[in-house]
Amino acid sequence: MSKSDGGKGSSPRPFSVSNEEYASRWDAIFAKDSCDHKVWTFHEEKADGKYLYECMKCGKVSETPTN
Ligand SMILES: [Zn+2]
Repeated sequence: MSKSDGGKGSSPRPFSVSNEEYASRWDAIFAKDSCDHKVWTFHEEKADGKYLYECMKCGKVSETPTN
């Protein structure tokens, strides 16, 4: 008979993208999406004398710093 066949083994596929990095980005998006807007800081005074506040957590700007 002929020579024995070469027995090619399938090499494991290397991961190029870190799953952890991907997950942390999703965490950031989710945190912003689920923000309860409880801590506000002064943002700016508008021309009409009203104040704008900015959520310390997600950066949302609002005249009415509530939920
Ligand atoms: Zn917020």
